[in-house]
Amino acid sequence: MKNHTLNPYHFTAIVGQDKMKKTLILNAINPKIGGVLIRGEKGTAKSTAVRALAGLLPEIEVVEGCVFGCNPHNKNEMCEDCLEQMQHGGLKTALRKMRVVDLPVSTTEDRAVGTLDIEHAIKKGESI
Ligand SMILES: [Zn+2]
Repeated sequence: MKNHTLNPYHFTAIVGQDKMKKTLILNAINPKIGGVLIRGEKGTAKSTAVRALAGLLPEIEVVEGCVFGCNPHNKNEMCEDCLEQMQHGGLKTALRKMRVVDLPVSTTEDRAVGTLDIEHAIKKGESI
């Protein structure tokens, strides 16, 4: 996977674009905001701002070797492989920088991160 993260200096070096930078920071603080739509002319530092902000963020703890970067402290946020690994002895963790991933235009949240298992939710009364 290509790393699109830039040096954090690039974020502070962007001149102007205060609303864009503030919105990105707020979204990083509280992802429940649901994302940021940035539009602008070519060369207005849209991609630079996103990639440099990722460089500013602290490292996160993930399950070592998991392709999804599962949170090792919340089984509700784990993939099936990590759940199975946890039940058979425990999880090794690692710290990694936040990543910037390029998605096709019009990608919805459920396409990017999956959705509720309706069958499981109806049968067991819980979401996984
Ligand atoms: Zn996982």
